[in-house]
Amino acid sequence: MLSHKRILVTGGAGFIGSHLCEKLLDQGHEVLCLDNFFTGSRVNVTSLMSNPMFELMRHDVTFPIYVEVDEIYNLACPASPVHYQHDPVQTTKTSVHGAINVLGLAKRLNAKVFQASTSEVYGDPTMHPQKEDYWGNVNPIGLRSCYDEGKRCAETLFFDYQRQHGLEIKVARIFNTYGPHMHPNDGRVVSNFIMQALRGDPITIYGEGQQTRSFCYVDDLVNAFIRFMDTDKDFTGPMNLGNPNEFTIRQLAELIIEMTNSTSQLVFQPLPQDDPQQRQPDISLAKEKINWQPETQLQEGLAKTIAYFQGVIAQS
Ligand code: NAD
Ligand code: UDP
Repeated sequence: MLSHKRILVTGGAGFIGSHLCEKLLDQGHEVLCLDNFFTGSRVNVTSLMSNPMFELMRHDVTFPIYVEVDEIYNLACPASPVHYQHDPVQTTKTSVHGAINVLGLAKRLNAKVFQASTSEVYGDPTMHPQKEDYWGNVNPIGLRSCYDEGKRCAETLFFDYQRQHGLEIKVARIFNTYGPHMHPNDGRVVSNFIMQALRGDPITIYGEGQQTRSFCYVDDLVNAFIRFMDTDKDFTGPMNLGNPNEFTIRQLAELIIEMTNSTSQLVFQPLPQDDPQQRQPDISLAKEKINWQPETQLQEGLAKTIAYFQGVIAQS
């Protein structure tokens, strides 16, 4: 096994991607970060730019990619409902054409390839907590379908490339993740609530706030990606990665108000279409295969994220 690798991270200027680039550089690898800056930003990787092992390339994954690398992490895709619903056709193209281009590249290079899939492949789940063998409850024609079905189709492509061409694949189903470098206006619940609380604006709870999510801190997630990439060739996943501690959205709002000493009030707005009622990963497979479980408790991760957004507000 190569100890020093050239690694491509698509979507590397995004929230999770920028943390992954940093971690891979810390491990002594060369990192090629590819991004079209739709939701990501150069600011997320500014601190990496002076590292000679880091290279930033503007490119859209829906077009073929010609580079030479040893490993690929495919993260390119908007992840927040507001952003992926902004141009839903482009979202499906990014997942599907992006997967085809990334897999074609991996095939030519015989490179191991990781796919950032999502808990959204389970839709509004009727099995709780969700295990990898659950096939999901997904609306194929709704507002979230461009993302959910795009990611499902990408999983299909990954497994067909593995069966048909013997490609080494690693498919991770990521559950809600948060931390520094989230886009302050991306509409996801953690960034929304923290920004609202810090500005003293109303905290927008969709529905009654009884829906649940399980929040994973980004450092824990990125550690899992790297461990997963190092597993035996025959272990492909799909594997759930997330924090199994489940909270209602109302609990999250109350915790953020308390931690920021905010004067913000809760306001209740309509629940978006097909908003999953509950979500919690079963991570027994990750425990068994990569000896991993999240170490960061919600309060600890939120404290770091709040500090990050305080910095963003101070600079704006
Ligand atoms: P993000 O929006 O911050 O990052 C996505 C990155 O991909 C951005 O830098 C964006 O500019 C880039 N991108 C989008 N379309 C592209 C294209 N066509 N070509 C090249 N680059 C493109 O989101 P994130 O939270 O960092 O998510 C990263 C990956 O993890 C995504 O694939 C997402 O679906 C997956 N995921 C994230 C979560 C989460 O909670 N954050 C949960 C499940 C899955
Ligand atoms: N949500 C909310 N207020 C907000 C943003 C989101 O109540 O300002 C809710 C949303 O309806 C969902 C949950 O928080 O039930 C998580 O939303 P997010 O967009 O972060 O991710 P999802 O898990 O839905 O993809």
